[in-house]
Amino acid sequence: MIKVQHYIAGTWQSSDTGIMLPGVNPATGETISSIPMASRVEVDQIVRKGQDAFVQWRRTPVTERIRYLFAYREKLEHHFEDIARCMTEECGKTLSESRGELRRGIENVEFACGAPSLMQGYNNEDVASGIDEHIIRQPLGVVVAITPFNFPGMIPLWFLPCAIATGNCFILKPSEKVPQTASWLIRLLDEVGIPAGVVQMINGGREVVDALIEHSGTQAISFVGSTPIARYVYAKAAENGKRVQCQGGANNVVVVMDDAEMEVTSEIIAESAYGCAGQRCLANSLAVTVGGARKMFTEAIVEASRTRKVGYGLDEASEMGPMITPESRSNIEQFIGASEKEGARILVDGRGKVVDGFQKGNWLFPTLIDGVDPASKLVRTEAFGPVFGLIHTDNLDQAIKFINSQPYGNMACLFTKNGAAARKFRYEVEAGNIGINLGIAVPMAFYPFGGYKDSFFGTLHAEGKHGFEFYTQTKLIVERWSNN
Ligand code: NAD
Repeated sequence: MIKVQHYIAGTWQSSDTGIMLPGVNPATGETISSIPMASRVEVDQIVRKGQDAFVQWRRTPVTERIRYLFAYREKLEHHFEDIARCMTEECGKTLSESRGELRRGIENVEFACGAPSLMQGYNNEDVASGIDEHIIRQPLGVVVAITPFNFPGMIPLWFLPCAIATGNCFILKPSEKVPQTASWLIRLLDEVGIPAGVVQMINGGREVVDALIEHSGTQAISFVGSTPIARYVYAKAAENGKRVQCQGGANNVVVVMDDAEMEVTSEIIAESAYGCAGQRCLANSLAVTVGGARKMFTEAIVEASRTRKVGYGLDEASEMGPMITPESRSNIEQFIGASEKEGARILVDGRGKVVDGFQKGNWLFPTLIDGVDPASKLVRTEAFGPVFGLIHTDNLDQAIKFINSQPYGNMACLFTKNGAAARKFRYEVEAGNIGINLGIAVPMAFYPFGGYKDSFFGTLHAEGKHGFEFYTQTKLIVERWSNN
């Protein structure tokens, strides 16, 4: 069993509080780690160490700063399989999903190596006679990222590389459900000799989050997690005068037109809905069929839902792993039960099943529900599991109207061969990410990732050029040096 520690000013430390939570493998039910819950005193210590390190780190030339990232990338590649395995063990996703996630994380390290160009400012000579004007970009200071359980490797890397490449000192507060992957990410930075205090990690829950936001020494807060906590962190950070970006939950809708290729469409949508056991903020949760697509798509998605192979993620044949916790599974089962009571039809029922040899796993198999009530909890609230609902409409206008009436706006997808329908969809739909004939519209590291409405609180998103803007503040300089 691994005893997780905090990483403060270049050293691994146990917590003073002695309060430890168990880390559990969601497929086996085995306790695999213990996680310390930090105190406010420890938060104060880590922030001060970050402030100390910032003095020298911001003066370190950007070319030198990114050399650590080049070396870090090599370390991540070298330990690629070890980290992927760790992700599967503590988060439950399949090995191929873990590998895909880590690859996306590494791409963020590679992107941040462009910092010398990406953090440039701009200037004009002679804005008035003999007067020049410049904008330069400077780092903020100590910045914090609070991350969720479902992408333990990738999401910390949405923030860490860009934050330090731009000259900030970075504190990671990972999810208490998956701290071992975060420890891997930090350990490899330690191995490349990142100066003490530039990157640090502290474990804990709400109290630690509150203390990090309230501390006068932190300058910016990045958060990824559920909408209620995103809303809370956003308000608290604003109250404390912090720069903040909060990515929240989702309930993504996919629209299927009757001209779509049904077999391939259903395969892609099943992968989106059930991949990572539906514990993905870009999972399709609801399909809206248009006209004649109803019958064809329903038959195809029933087949794709029934045949998905659920199993332990370390078994390469598995296509879907377990829920993160027993509580999460029973919460989702309540969503399914409520839909049933409201008159929806369960076409494929994933409840009450177990994977052979893994009796203690948090299993919930793919579940497909037809005719869900648009006003139901399943439609209005994120279930975050392998549950997929079907709604039927007569035309694309109705489908778009339905999407735009939803509280979330992370992603919306359309399957069609009709270019005019695709254009109308991307033009009118209120969501931050649009997929056309794709089930997961995920931005590459060099594009920003953000949703609309209850899926995102803030202005600048994670990743891409937004990351560089978020982690730097502009300074205007107006100069007159001429003698004439
Ligand atoms: P969560 O909101 O429970 O936890 C996220 C982080 O907040 C964790 O580090 C946790 O320790 C901390 N936290 C938990 N309760 C807190 C509280 N009361 N006060 C302050 N901090 C608290 O989310 P989760 O279950 O770990 O992750 C799943 C959620 O994340 C889903 O809703 C999913 O849609 C969302 N998510 C969104 C995106 C996106 O880009 N929009 C990406 C991944 C996950």
